[in-house]
Amino acid sequence: MNASPTKQSEVDVVVIGAGLAGLIASRQLTEAGKTVLILEARDGLGGRLYARCLQDRSVYVDFGGTWIIPGEHAHAEAELDRYGIDRVRTPDPDTFATRVEGRVSARRSLDEADIADASAVLAQIAADSTAKTDFAEALASANASPLIADWMQALNRFLNGCELSDVSARVMGTYPAEAWADPDHYSDQITGTTQTLVNAVASEAGARIRFNTEATFVHVDDAAPAASPWEPGPGWRSMREPP
Ligand SMILES: Cc1cc2nc3c(=O)[nH]c(=O)nc-3n(C[C@H](O)[C@H](O)[C@H](O)COP(=O)(O)OP(=O)(O)OC[C@H]3O[C@@H](n4cnc5c(N)ncnc54)[C@H](O)[C@@H]3O)c2cc1C
Repeated sequence: MNASPTKQSEVDVVVIGAGLAGLIASRQLTEAGKTVLILEARDGLGGRLYARCLQDRSVYVDFGGTWIIPGEHAHAEAELDRYGIDRVRTPDPDTFATRVEGRVSARRSLDEADIADASAVLAQIAADSTAKTDFAEALASANASPLIADWMQALNRFLNGCELSDVSARVMGTYPAEAWADPDHYSDQITGTTQTLVNAVASEAGARIRFNTEATFVHVDDAAPAASPWEPGPGWRSMREPP
């Protein structure tokens, strides 16, 4: 972000990121009478909610966030209700393959015995890990079968969009394997893909959006209360180097 401090007075609030959270925050700020500028590093709206057209160009498919879990995703459900957007049931798959780094690991979903194995591995990981243990490290020391290890890696990619080493073993260790493995858990999608919701929120966000603009510094005001783990203090703070 190259804006000088004096330019900040042009708007009341600068929101960083035009993902769903940034768009909803902007909408709420606009509703509260504030003027808002969104800085978005990429060239489109939605962040990790993104749909692409399949190769034959006949149908749009969600490639990022996809499923609304009834009862679990109350905020997302409230947003869909606000705009009257319907859900559609994901068709049951004919085949189910787990693919890890280009290698197909299994062409079936986990059965009951596999899920019991996965639960035991996760319980062991939760018990053995400290707050600093990462999931890759914990999984390597756990007694997981290649099928379960591959499954967890594939699912982590799909759920968290990152490497196992970026995830806390303690948090993942408490995740219920039954929920991970149950295809019914991932049943409700947004009609017309997540872009329907993104576009609906964006239409009410009331903000100017500057695309291809990465915020690299924020200015922390001495007078403002500490709202983040960053200590308040004068000057510009790099967003890439937390203290
Ligand atoms: C493959 C995959 C599958 C998923 N499946 C599901 C699912 O089925 N159900 C579910 O509920 N969730 C799912 N998720 C998670 C869900 O997509 C995210 O939790 C949600 O989209 C996060 O929204 P957000 O607005 O908080 O963040 P993001 O969508 O990540 O938005 C952040 C935005 O900020 C921008 N940004 C970041 N840093 C800067 C900067 N310094 N300057 C300017 N702009 C910046 C980014 O470009 C991005 O557009 C999935 C995620 C992935 C990757």
